[in-house]
Amino acid sequence: MKQEELTARGCLRTFEYEKGSSTLSCRLVLCITLFHILPCPETKKGFAKMSHDGSHVDTQPPAHADLPIFEGIFSTEEGDRRLASDDFGHLVHRVPSAVLSPRSVDDVVRVVQYARQHGLTVAPRGQGHSTSGQAQVEGGIVVHLTSLNAITAIHADCVEVEAGALWSTLLQATLAQGLTPPVLTDFTGLSIGGVLSVGGIGGTSYRYGPIVDNVLALEVVTGEGKLETCSPQQQPDLFHNVLAGLGQCGMIVKATLRLVPAPTHARVFHLFYPHVGAMLHDQRLLMRDGRFDYLLGYIIPTPQGTWGYMLEGTIFYTSSAQHPDNAQLLAHLGFIAGIEQVEDMTYLTFANRVVLQVDGLKAQGAWDQQHPWFDVFVPDSKIEPFVSEALAEISPIDFGLMPILLYGLDSASFRAPLLPAPAEGTFFLFDILRSLAPSSGTLAQAIEHNRQLYERSRALGATCYPIGTLNLTPADWQAHFGPQWVGLQRAKQRFDPDDILTPGQNIFPRQK
Ligand SMILES: Cc1cc2nc3c(=O)[nH]c(=O)nc-3n(C[C@H](O)[C@H](O)[C@H](O)COP(=O)(O)OP(=O)(O)OC[C@H]3O[C@@H](n4cnc5c(N)ncnc54)[C@H](O)[C@@H]3O)c2cc1C
Repeated sequence: MKQEELTARGCLRTFEYEKGSSTLSCRLVLCITLFHILPCPETKKGFAKMSHDGSHVDTQPPAHADLPIFEGIFSTEEGDRRLASDDFGHLVHRVPSAVLSPRSVDDVVRVVQYARQHGLTVAPRGQGHSTSGQAQVEGGIVVHLTSLNAITAIHADCVEVEAGALWSTLLQATLAQGLTPPVLTDFTGLSIGGVLSVGGIGGTSYRYGPIVDNVLALEVVTGEGKLETCSPQQQPDLFHNVLAGLGQCGMIVKATLRLVPAPTHARVFHLFYPHVGAMLHDQRLLMRDGRFDYLLGYIIPTPQGTWGYMLEGTIFYTSSAQHPDNAQLLAHLGFIAGIEQVEDMTYLTFANRVVLQVDGLKAQGAWDQQHPWFDVFVPDSKIEPFVSEALAEISPIDFGLMPILLYGLDSASFRAPLLPAPAEGTFFLFDILRSLAPSSGTLAQAIEHNRQLYERSRALGATCYPIGTLNLTPADWQAHFGPQWVGLQRAKQRFDPDDILTPGQNIFPRQK
């Protein structure tokens, strides 16, 4: 067995493993969690003043008459509008007429009321890690909520935090009190509000569900321009239509999130498998017996032009308590013995490991590439053939530096009505993190492949995790929300009667 570590932890490593006649050679991006690039809009160059349909747009924004007085900054500067017309996908560009960086919740209320009066659309934006213009709005106003980022109270079992804060900042603050959210996104450089508007999946979701199922209360500015507090007990209709609600009924300005006691350390096991079926077998077994706190499956392109399969199982512990028993943790598993890796780190390092590795990925050019991601929840009974077929249609050689991911999940812990799960007890989030060099000329093909995969997966009972590039139509959304559609429509009419919020999702096309 040969193992060569080319760089310090966090950069690119090359491993070569030989066992019997088989060789597994994996080139791993050690930001081995799926979601890994920080926004760095300041460095984005060469912005073309294009609308999403490719036509040129006027660089002069329309004048905004009768503006209220904002405590924050209401900018019509071209640079600010340009930043708000891009996102992590770099696929869609819609140029707003203005960008508000609010300094208070009152600013958010004012801007929504102003937009309503003037027939303008408004979109909340967190970190802009959407991949197809979900937080963009052509000619309207983008509310850049990162300026509302205070952590206002940490209690024994919950934290109150403004929507623009990052998960990494939140974690740092709660860890100082020995507490942590039970689920974190694998990349903690996302905003609280952006994640609560989509769902929030991490490696502990198999046990605790999505992040939206760990929210106790919200403060929301509705499309009517009203500040409301909601929870499962108070205004439940608003609460359930805002969580995973894709910004359709209101902008989250503050959230109360559940906390649990935090461990101090994490022991991370990387287990390698000869094929996806073997990995899924162990992933299911480990979900059932719960011996690891965190589980995530990776499918990684190898330099040989094949796919490598790796399960990351992590157990959390507190250093003063008994250390984990490796033999017990690895018993009865079918990984390729002898090449597993084990590493201890602090819980904070584990939770922020992707953030720490971002610079390496940026240096490799991954940030500037286009990211037509594909993300669906697939029923357990269909996952293996579906993944095998999808992999056969993708070239590992052209795939780029990011992995394909498999999160095992349990429908019993999926409760948020607007995050529909497949109708099977166990299901998997299957993420294809495509990263394409703009010069590769494969974008249209990738988007078309996403669509084909979506339709095939839907026929198998899959549901969409709406963070990727699928360009869903209103009819697709109606099918996606299924029995929740009527309720969402009603909530939209009630809380956003003029249809001004978050048009980039294309759920409710605006009547002209
Ligand atoms: C690098 C990267 C890593 C990721 N890692 C994970 C991960 O580990 N787990 C996971 O589940 N997902 C992950 N995602 C997906 C991510 O959770 C979603 O794309 C999320 O919406 C991004 O958060 P954001 O702050 O960038 O939101 P934005 O892209 O700014 O906004 C996303 C959507 O939410 C709306 N929105 C934003 N803020 C609010 C608000 N306060 N109130 C209401 N609506 C709002 C926007 O209008 C938009 O429609 C990742 C994506 C990327 C690109």
